[in-house]
Amino acid sequence: MASAQKPLSFFENVSASFNTAAQFTEHPKGLLEQIKACNSVYAFQFPVRTEKGYDVISGWRAEHSHHKLPVKGGIRYAEEVNEDEVMALAALMTYKCALVDVPFGGAKGGIKINPKKYTVEQLEHITRRYTAELIRKNFIGPGIDVPAPDYGTGPREMAWIADTYSAFNPSQIDSLACVTGKPVSQGGIRGRKEATGRGLFYGLREACSQEEDMKRQGLTKGLEGKKIIVQGLGNVGYYAAKFCCEGGAILVGLVEYDGAIYNPKGLDLEAVVQHRKEKGTILNFPGATSIAKREQGLEQECDILIPAALENQITEQNAGKIKAKIIAEGANGPTTAAADSILLERKVMVIPDMYLNAGGVTVSYFEWLKNLSHVRFGRMGKRFEQTAFEKMLRAVETATGKAFTDTERTSIAHGADEIDLVNSGLEETMVNAYNEIRAIWRGNTKTPDLRTAAYINAINKIAVSYMELGIFP
Ligand code: NAD
Repeated sequence: MASAQKPLSFFENVSASFNTAAQFTEHPKGLLEQIKACNSVYAFQFPVRTEKGYDVISGWRAEHSHHKLPVKGGIRYAEEVNEDEVMALAALMTYKCALVDVPFGGAKGGIKINPKKYTVEQLEHITRRYTAELIRKNFIGPGIDVPAPDYGTGPREMAWIADTYSAFNPSQIDSLACVTGKPVSQGGIRGRKEATGRGLFYGLREACSQEEDMKRQGLTKGLEGKKIIVQGLGNVGYYAAKFCCEGGAILVGLVEYDGAIYNPKGLDLEAVVQHRKEKGTILNFPGATSIAKREQGLEQECDILIPAALENQITEQNAGKIKAKIIAEGANGPTTAAADSILLERKVMVIPDMYLNAGGVTVSYFEWLKNLSHVRFGRMGKRFEQTAFEKMLRAVETATGKAFTDTERTSIAHGADEIDLVNSGLEETMVNAYNEIRAIWRGNTKTPDLRTAAYINAINKIAVSYMELGIFP
């Protein structure tokens, strides 16, 4: 009797997708093996004092590829964190950075804790101790390895990391560039917090603007009017929902760890957030149907499903039941390789994580540049641009004899601020990267899907780096 096959681990899933794409390239086998391999992993334990005694905490940092330095990737706090997961997420970071032309290698860190079980003081202690471990082994630094937020962490943790690193390196002028996703007052950049969700919106809008692709999915062109379901109302999920709704999509479902809510007529996102603040859950939101089994939330009627919680959410068990015609991956690794094959057969269009959630690392790159240059974007040019626009308006007024209104004047004669430049750089990055991937997908009829096209593009770019280094001829 044939024994049931063991499901692939997360890293094996990423490697399976890589192998599929590698067949479409002509790089030497050794080079492909080097690109796929995870270069180094640091695993460590340390104690933290609690009310009941001591907890021994496990932490990891994986540096997947050093073809460009520094390496970059978030730090995750979750009970499910393990070495395989950290390696898989680090690998995705390598490919993601290549896709959006961010000149970094890939890395990822994780601490195996449920942050909700610890006080703020204990979390600060854990974060600072984790940072000290990274410093000890040279796994952090502006030119070495630059962490960022991920699931379970945010600006607060990044501020603790920056402060610890700076304390250990008091004379290092660039020390703030050792981590990104910091609060703006601590060297962060405007727009980083919402960058992943905003980037997802730009990418999804671009995908929906391709009439031919939408027709194939049985949909009309444009994001306007499309019904979306979002899984995970955290950083990525909330901002993805917010920007998509502002762009004309209709939020019909939300899925959280304790269940889902659904209303085909649409949900008011801010009202749901307020409801969760008051009740501690999204369930029983007035006017919506509550669904106790969270998995069923993913299977409700919609045009676009946005998984933005954790990996392995769409598997061979539920891939056949998903009703969405587009899956827009906000989380890392939400779809397993086996589920991908089923979705492909069912002609569901999957916009892959390593492209679609790259907004975070793109704006992190801008933050790193800001920290290295020690000047806020827009500071030098804003007033100059504003004055130049003012002069132009006055010249037009003189020539036409017609005065502009105050509203027209304010909207036209506006010099670019940091947030304007960040959002514009992010939009440019996401639109360009989508069109590069799409050109590979539609240009070669054998490329099965966007994920394979994204891997092909990333592999080709990384291969060039290695060849330029002279490591592979
Ligand atoms: P977060 O901690 O801010 O939010 C995650 C949300 O998912 C929480 O509200 C949590 O309650 C919910 N959740 C947990 N398990 C769930 C389940 N089984 N079903 C439904 N909901 C569940 O995390 P985040 O930063 O938004 O990250 C989410 C995903 O996006 C992760 O895969 C992360 O790696 C990826 N990502 C994050 C960023 C970033 O900038 N934060 C960038 C790229 C990718």
